[in-house]
Amino acid sequence: MKYSAEFRDPALARGLLAAIAETVAGYRGKMTLMEVCGTHTMAIYQHGIRALLPEGIRLISGPGCPVCVTPVGYVDHAIALARLPGTIVATFGDMVRVPGSSSTLLREKALGADVRIVYSPLDALTIAEHNRQQTVVFLGVGFETTAPTVAGSILEARRRGLDNYLVLAAHKTMPTPMAALASDPELQVDGYLCPAHVSAVIGANAYLPLAKKHRVPCVVTGFEPLDVLQGVLMLARQVVTGEARVENQYSRYVKPDGNPRARAILDEVFAPCDARWRGIGEISGSGLKIRTAFAYFDAARQLCVTVEEPVEHGGCLCGEILKGKVRPKECPLFRTVCTPEDPVGACMVSSEGTCAAEYKYGC
Ligand code: SF4
Ligand code: SF4
Repeated sequence: MKYSAEFRDPALARGLLAAIAETVAGYRGKMTLMEVCGTHTMAIYQHGIRALLPEGIRLISGPGCPVCVTPVGYVDHAIALARLPGTIVATFGDMVRVPGSSSTLLREKALGADVRIVYSPLDALTIAEHNRQQTVVFLGVGFETTAPTVAGSILEARRRGLDNYLVLAAHKTMPTPMAALASDPELQVDGYLCPAHVSAVIGANAYLPLAKKHRVPCVVTGFEPLDVLQGVLMLARQVVTGEARVENQYSRYVKPDGNPRARAILDEVFAPCDARWRGIGEISGSGLKIRTAFAYFDAARQLCVTVEEPVEHGGCLCGEILKGKVRPKECPLFRTVCTPEDPVGACMVSSEGTCAAEYKYGC
């Protein structure tokens, strides 16, 4: 198949749904399958996939949206930097609306801070080149998909001699939180639909330790409806037969070893570190920090600001939603106080957020 329409063929979808139903028919209990990718979340809501699955499958969304998992403390830190005279904060669009403890970057911009939305870290480099008297801080947020481009921007800043370009790094790496959630007895994840873009960088083999150690099946899955249904079928078959292997449904895009070039750039600039995830807390080895050799470009080391202890919004259930423990409709603020126009929590900000997807497409 070459075109996206072919991955939405209703007859093929019906065939896959029948095969899923047949697979789980004799399974005792309900299996819980989790996706951990913002675009999977969107696809599942947009195409109403959850409602099409048999009773025996519970399909839940985990910590897949990079904006959603960024903790309040990071937003507060970015706001503190934006308030520094002579500083320009450059960021992808969604981040400006993510609530910090008491403000957002958008509000700070309205109050006079120089906050600019960019589409790539290279745009931030251009801003640094044109504003040599000011310090440009790029907000480095995202998974292994965006981290190589941010690493590339640091290498490029060094090459161009841009000493006014800094990155506030909060990148996360994906297999580690999946392992953390797999050991949560309350959750009992029976299988993972592994993220697509992330896997294109880290490779399908990156999930082998997770499958082996936690005995949890993993299927790297594409974004189209037929991809998702086939991924669910592959997972369901493993769960029913008691296997725990890594399979690659998205082999047209994801290779076993990923993208070695992107990984090399990433490894040159970043080193693994412990990282805090919104709602989940600190997970050992789940983040990326700028290596000492590039400390000159590290906003956290170069700019000194005071950041108070972060305050989460009392009523927001983002943390439980990111762990797949509650659905957005169970949050008392959903649709009433919290909307995409006026989000209370990060999960309502990004279009890849679970609350935003459920708001737009329904359950
Ligand atoms: S960057 Fe790609 S793989 Fe990662 S969450 Fe977004 S859509 Fe999924
Ligand atoms: S609906 Fe809003 S307040 Fe509730 S969990 Fe989602 S983002 Fe948080």
